Amino acid sequence: MILGIETSCDETAAAIVKNGREVISNVINSQISIHQQFGGVVPEVASRKHIENIAWVVDAAFKDAALNYQDIDAVAVTNMPGLIGALLVGLSFAKAFAYGLGKPLIAVNHLEGHIYANFLEHKDIEFPAICLVVSGGHTSLLYMKNAGESEVIGETRDDAAGEAFDKVARFLGLGYPGGPAIQKAAQMGQPGIYKLPRVFLDRNEYEFSFSGLKTAAMNLWMKSLRRGENNVENMAAEFQAALVEILVEKTISAALHYKAGTVLLAGGVAANQALRETMARRAQNEGLKLYYPSLKLCTDNAAMIAGRAYYDYYNRNFSPLNINAHPNLFSV
Ligand code: ATP
Ligand code: MG
Ligand code: FE
Repeated sequence: MILGIETSCDETAAAIVKNGREVISNVINSQISIHQQFGGVVPEVASRKHIENIAWVVDAAFKDAALNYQDIDAVAVTNMPGLIGALLVGLSFAKAFAYGLGKPLIAVNHLEGHIYANFLEHKDIEFPAICLVVSGGHTSLLYMKNAGESEVIGETRDDAAGEAFDKVARFLGLGYPGGPAIQKAAQMGQPGIYKLPRVFLDRNEYEFSFSGLKTAAMNLWMKSLRRGENNVENMAAEFQAALVEILVEKTISAALHYKAGTVLLAGGVAANQALRETMARRAQNEGLKLYYPSLKLCTDNAAMIAGRAYYDYYNRNFSPLNINAHPNLFSV
């Protein structure tokens, strides 16, 4: 029985997971409404809100699970990557909580958590697999030999997919977070009226670049504004279509090249309906199995952190109480 704690960005989250599989409770306090007025996450505000909320969010996770503090076997917490101040709130709380209870501490990599969300819900995933991690801060393709052994085969050179959604939504006046807002607007629009480039799709490699796509979208948008021909829904539809096509085609071609029979999606952008549907269609055409987490487990949550920590618990791979938080992935 592992308690997970997640505070890397603007969600204060706590969850209890049994045997790395069964989500007993999963509490998420989102700060979205607070950051919305600023058009994005303000790091210092996020840290302060985490401080206010962490104690009751953890208590709510125990209450929902109908468990006492002593019933858990370990405390798992995200220690990288993320906003440093935000991470430190969760990490400090987790250290004190684990120390106070005399339970081991397990530090978890947030992105490994996102990937693990798939294993919380799908019990029969076969390897090797290609995993597309698409979130607010990351866009990577991974070759997974098995659940514990993976290799990055491609990444974004600039903006992450979620970041591109957020920035385009911002100049379209759609607000924060951008992904869900663009998805909603796109449903009422038509792709192909604005014409955006499918960046890097002609290249036989697994790198992404979304900064150019974002700039192209902005230039087209400004031009149509000047002509009085601007249409938010059509721009949202074309931007989403372009981004999804790039993500899907690169992922499918990686799966075929590496002879992986399974494709996994992970991270907040994996909640995108167009991405889920297009990937499902392409995977089926190629005879590949596709898995993605349910919507609640795609965006930030602590169940994925508690789940991922089960490996380390099993291997008695505990973290020292002086372990630090890191804003980037490989700064350790
Ligand atoms: P990271 O996981 O890289 O540290 P993060 O934790 O901030 O970053 P996530 O919570 O995993 O990111 O995902 C948030 C991102 O997902 C945001 O950029 C948001 O716009 C995007 N997102 C959420 N829902 C959707 C959706 N339906 N369609 C597209 N993007 C979405
Ligand atoms: Mg968030
Ligand atoms: Fe995340």
